[in-house]
Amino acid sequence: MSTAEKAGTGTARTAAPVTVRVPAKVNVQLAVGGLRPDGFHDLANVFLAVGLYDEVTATATAPGEGPRVTCSGPDTDQVPLDRTNLAVRAADALAARYGIVPDVHLHIGKEIPVAGGMAGGSADAAGALLACDALWGTGASRGELLEICAELGSDVPFSLVGGAALGRGRGELLTPLEVGGVFHWVFAVAEGGLSTPAVYRECDRLREARGGGAGADAVPAPEASPALLAALRAGDAALLAEHLSNDLQPAAVSLLPSLDDTLAVGTQAGALAALVSGSGPTCAFLAEDAAAASDVAFALRASGVCRTAHTATSPAPGATVVRPAG
Ligand code: ATP
Repeated sequence: MSTAEKAGTGTARTAAPVTVRVPAKVNVQLAVGGLRPDGFHDLANVFLAVGLYDEVTATATAPGEGPRVTCSGPDTDQVPLDRTNLAVRAADALAARYGIVPDVHLHIGKEIPVAGGMAGGSADAAGALLACDALWGTGASRGELLEICAELGSDVPFSLVGGAALGRGRGELLTPLEVGGVFHWVFAVAEGGLSTPAVYRECDRLREARGGGAGADAVPAPEASPALLAALRAGDAALLAEHLSNDLQPAAVSLLPSLDDTLAVGTQAGALAALVSGSGPTCAFLAEDAAAASDVAFALRASGVCRTAHTATSPAPGATVVRPAG
């Protein structure tokens, strides 16, 4: 039987709606290499999935309706509701591979900040892929799903697998990492977002301005820090705090200087360490325990330097079907 036959060629099957929960990520290390000729940068990207989730629900619609997407939650006015939405692109990619007509309604319940450097769009893509795979009964293998994820974006494969992983290449070549304990985080959500490509461009501009150049010949090849990986393995928050790093932080702060105030407020409130999450503007604070995290979140909310602050723990599982219960 061909894969198309297995999946029910030509149209989506009528089945109960499927809901998938997908975590946000924080980069505990983001080492950015030089600008490559193809416009990307080589990365050593240490991903940690955190317990802040979007939920993607896939529901079969009438034949010929095509894919439709709706979204609820804060800042959803910034989320496109057409075929450029990453969740729709994921459904389209799976449907094309299996010869299915993607008559599906995707609803995204958003908790992950939009354009916040926490891979919210990537999470929705991974969630939609898993939800449609279950709805349509495509039975795609893990390897196939990961392949589609990598085509959709550099952070999408990690959203599917969760936990902790080292991402090489553009971030999509994943090696799972061991984590020896629970880490407590606070995330300060900024008013508005930052465009990831704009932050990379600013990183290149700052490197050029320093006189060193921004190309692969001028910037050292990115490497994961052995001390950071050891801290993760040990589950040691104090040690991890000493080794957190993000090469995009100067660029994010250059584009949004108020981030320095946000970082300072959390540090003064007792965080072990503070850093910009990915391309920002969300700021991440590592805390000693749940009580310390709650103090830091309270101080951030009270200070007015951010729109809101969330506490969350890591590591978190990757994309998981939550309804129908397995
Ligand atoms: P990353 O951390 O992977 O660089 P991010 O978290 O900073 O990404 P996203 O929330 O993924 O940013 O949004 C980036 C842009 O992608 C948004 O401004 C929006 O225009 C577009 N986008 C497309 N699909 C989605 C989606 N499902 N959710 C959020 N944004 C989406």
